[in-house]
Amino acid sequence: MKVYKDLHTHSKYSKWNHGKNTIEELVKVAIEKKLEVIAISDHAPGHPFGVRKKLLEKRRNEILKLREKYPQIKILVGLEANLVSKNGDIDVDSKLRQNLDICLMGFHRAGFGGFWNMLKFGLWKSLFGKNQIKSNTTAYINAIEKNNIDIIAHLQQYIKVDVGKVAAAAQKKGILIEINNRHLKFTKDDVKAMLKTGCKFIISSDAHRKNSVGEFENAIKFVVDNQIPIENIVNVKE
Ligand SMILES: [Zn+2]
Ligand SMILES: [Zn+2]
Repeated sequence: MKVYKDLHTHSKYSKWNHGKNTIEELVKVAIEKKLEVIAISDHAPGHPFGVRKKLLEKRRNEILKLREKYPQIKILVGLEANLVSKNGDIDVDSKLRQNLDICLMGFHRAGFGGFWNMLKFGLWKSLFGKNQIKSNTTAYINAIEKNNIDIIAHLQQYIKVDVGKVAAAAQKKGILIEINNRHLKFTKDDVKAMLKTGCKFIISSDAHRKNSVGEFENAIKFVVDNQIPIENIVNVKE
């Protein structure tokens, strides 16, 4: 099984050394590993480790230049948005979205407000209790319905949802469910519930350093162990 696109990677544009390498370094590894597409999907500016707003344009221009330098690979401008409210609001608005090729969305505990985050750290617990499955599910479905997103990142990682319901809503809008090489918390029953909806999956590395670009070993093992049909995964070839 060959995975040929990696649409979830973090670069040095993420704050606090969250992503370790330059975009060019990530791209070079992607080429070495014979990937056909890579997306640079740093956290959105609302996340404490996110790209600074004033650097978004610079980051985009850098990617556009690299496209000319490395025509053998497709390089996409992406962001990983954070789910920030029960109403399904995310920290990538439509204006920000206009300059992106791709938008991922996930829930992150640290996603509630830059510098004051440490003080606010308890907030996510009251908003998104780990086991408040019903309201967490509604938050995801609201986010799917009201935002222009392409991929739901690492579902079930930090808060629990009814994955069957989230996957059904995603399937209706053509949004992909991620099989994340680093964060993989789906149970066998989760997989069964998702497969019933006919949703499509995408395998991602979620690389934060160059050597992890194109690393899919855990994800592939998960696909094999759970007998997820290859036709349901959009970025693999036999
Ligand atoms: Zn994430
Ligand atoms: Zn990520």
